[in-house]
Amino acid sequence: MTDPIHAHPTIEAAQPGATVELISVVKDYAGQRALSGVSLSIRPGEFVALLGPSGCGKTTVLRCLSGLEQVNGGSILIDGNDVVDVPVNRRDIGMVFQSYSLFPHMTAFENVEFGLRMRKVASGERRRRAAETLDLVGLSSLASRYAHQLSGGQQQRVALARALVTRPRVLLLDEPLSALDAKVRLQLRDEIRRIQTELGITTLFVTHDQEEALAVADRVAVMRDGNIEQIGTPEELYLNPTTPFVADFVGLSNRLPAHQAGGVVTVLGRELALLGERQPDGPVFALVRPEDVALASDGVPATVLASSFLGSVRRTQVRVSEDLILSIQHEVGERPQPGDRVHITLKGRPVSASPRV
Ligand code: ADP
Ligand code: MG
Repeated sequence: MTDPIHAHPTIEAAQPGATVELISVVKDYAGQRALSGVSLSIRPGEFVALLGPSGCGKTTVLRCLSGLEQVNGGSILIDGNDVVDVPVNRRDIGMVFQSYSLFPHMTAFENVEFGLRMRKVASGERRRRAAETLDLVGLSSLASRYAHQLSGGQQQRVALARALVTRPRVLLLDEPLSALDAKVRLQLRDEIRRIQTELGITTLFVTHDQEEALAVADRVAVMRDGNIEQIGTPEELYLNPTTPFVADFVGLSNRLPAHQAGGVVTVLGRELALLGERQPDGPVFALVRPEDVALASDGVPATVLASSFLGSVRRTQVRVSEDLILSIQHEVGERPQPGDRVHITLKGRPVSASPRV
């Protein structure tokens, strides 16, 4: 085995990633607003995930950045230069899409070589760089295969090599893993991160999967309805969501009827600190993560509905009252059975809250 860090001296020596800035970007489709003032700064070599539900505008952000769509307002700067009027092929951006977009009549090698051919790179140099980039994604041995002879994961590796072969300074990935099965998805996710770090390429990775975003990114931007609602490190978003939407979207949360006054949330008989923005005093839903609820020897009585083994942890649903079911995450050693009478307690960590009207 070659050491992956030192195996690609030429690619390693490529120019470092660019700074990317979106400033109040607005995009309308036929009068319908898709982006209503998106601002985002990405540092050279940084890996940012754009996370949000379907239809919130993630793909539109990528298409505006790459030049596939014209913006209706705002600016896009790459290394400080406004690129709004720069055509797609001059923006120095590589893109990978969700669906396999390889040219079916070309081999893996020819697909990767394509971008260099378009740029009229001489054949020796072209072949050397295509081979080197296929090697980078671990596909040298399949260079002569056509798309239909490759698995989904292999096709996405070729798509990644095709995007990287021109040594772009920005890499955009639009849900590149969503069509793959779970195991391949994890492998390729880690592989993308390894390659990205090795190349130092500034990367914006779109996903609707919060776990994927938290696992892979330096920072995560959470989008909702054409806006970025919060941007921060995975830890910041998870531990300190500033809006109920982010709290709800980043990690599974229980919604418990509660009361908030002066930044203190009273829920299931406990007083917890309120996370995020201050709210008017009154009834709220407290958003409590499953790992912040524990089975206990005393506390609030509940009945076990179901319990499932998730590998390193166990998740159990309990009924507290007629209309309150909670999800609890706990050690695999505890094995509650459906019908068991148990007690639950809140661990006391601060919670987010949304107004209850
Ligand atoms: P996401 O990638 O987060 O699922 P998109 O950026 O694809 O969201 O879409 C954002 C919004 O813009 C959606 O309401 C979508 O229906 C709309 N939209 C996207 N592309 C077009 C288009 N070419 N024409 C009209 N509306 C579009
Ligand atoms: Mg999309």
